Amino acid sequence: MQPKELLALAEEFGNPLYVYDAAIIEQQYNRLTTAFSKVEKLRINYAMKALSNVTVLKLLKNLGSGLDTVSFQEVQLGLHAGFTPDKIIFTPNGVSFEEIEEVAKLGVQINIDNLSVLEHFGSKYPKIPVCIRINPHVMAGGNSNISVGHIDSKFGISVHQIPLILRIVENTKMHINGIHMHTGSDILDIEVFLYAAEILFDAAKNFKELDFLDFGSGFKVPYKKGDIETNIEELGKKLTKRFLAFEKEYGRELTLAFEPGKFLVSEAGYFLAKVNVIKQTTSTVFAGVDTGFNHLIRPMLYGSQHTIENISNPKGKERFYTVVGYICETDTFANNRRISEIHEGDVLCFRNAGAYCFTMASNYNSRFKPAEVLWKDGKGHLIRERETMEDILKNQILIDL
Ligand SMILES: *Cc1c(COP(=O)(O)O)cnc(C)c1O
Repeated sequence: MQPKELLALAEEFGNPLYVYDAAIIEQQYNRLTTAFSKVEKLRINYAMKALSNVTVLKLLKNLGSGLDTVSFQEVQLGLHAGFTPDKIIFTPNGVSFEEIEEVAKLGVQINIDNLSVLEHFGSKYPKIPVCIRINPHVMAGGNSNISVGHIDSKFGISVHQIPLILRIVENTKMHINGIHMHTGSDILDIEVFLYAAEILFDAAKNFKELDFLDFGSGFKVPYKKGDIETNIEELGKKLTKRFLAFEKEYGRELTLAFEPGKFLVSEAGYFLAKVNVIKQTTSTVFAGVDTGFNHLIRPMLYGSQHTIENISNPKGKERFYTVVGYICETDTFANNRRISEIHEGDVLCFRNAGAYCFTMASNYNSRFKPAEVLWKDGKGHLIRERETMEDILKNQILIDL
């Protein structure tokens, strides 16, 4: 989107503001399906924890996407947005057995990542087919907070425990219809992904009635200049070839599934915030914005580097700024970043604000969560109102004392 268009939206809807460009979500979705167009049965399940606004879900549904969910509430949101249960997969971790039961009763595909839960579920519901989440123990990327397939990760059932899975399946007569892995959010190297895929293929051979193989996600998108991006086109070529060969060997038609979050929505998002103050100290020039980690926590939580542009002065001379929030804690968005000259009242734009930004927002400091706008066909549509004091007070009870 152009700075002018974004600035106009900030004026119309106020700050801070999340804006999502529908065209980019569409483009990313099509890139993925094109890369795997030789696969007869391809299924993309959008990982909605990245961005869960119901209009965004509807947009993805209209593109043909399914949904990857991690809570009963996400399932409910998906149904509300128009997804049918057969288009939803539930991949929880550490949730109660009752929650899994509730979701299964809706007819949603269950993905189990724990031996005790598998045994419990199989004994109680031997007729409901389930998918198994395998941990291939492959380290994806360098960040152990977002890499979830390594040896110490809490996610998935270890590939080394397949004999135990098989014993449970035999004892309960349950039906395993899918096998799944998700190595984490940072696939820097396609070869690493393909290596993990081989482990999944090997594991799959143990189960005779699979309908799908789910390769999770971990597709990397660039956040700043020079960042590596997962080469989806090359992955498409290589994995398709291997998948088709496996399908033949397996002797049964299989669906190839993915569940990307970040890849589909990260680059579609823009977060707009106004500069309240410029503070010059002896060593640093701070730009203080009307937001903080209550609205965008990734820089503080993961050290993510969101590119920041001054859309009020896009062509200005660049200077160094440390961009900080208004929260009464250290909430630094960027340290000594080159940004075109900032004046108080300017609007800054944080790029890659589609994935894990609004969904991680909170009311810390009793601030309102921002509004969300979908940019579609040259027009901004409000898809979430800015919160008000009513929202802050909604569930609070002032008792007589
Ligand atoms: C979060 C998550 C995803 C999406 O990961 P991205 O890096 O956003 O693509 C996919 N699958 C599962 C099981 C997840 O928990």
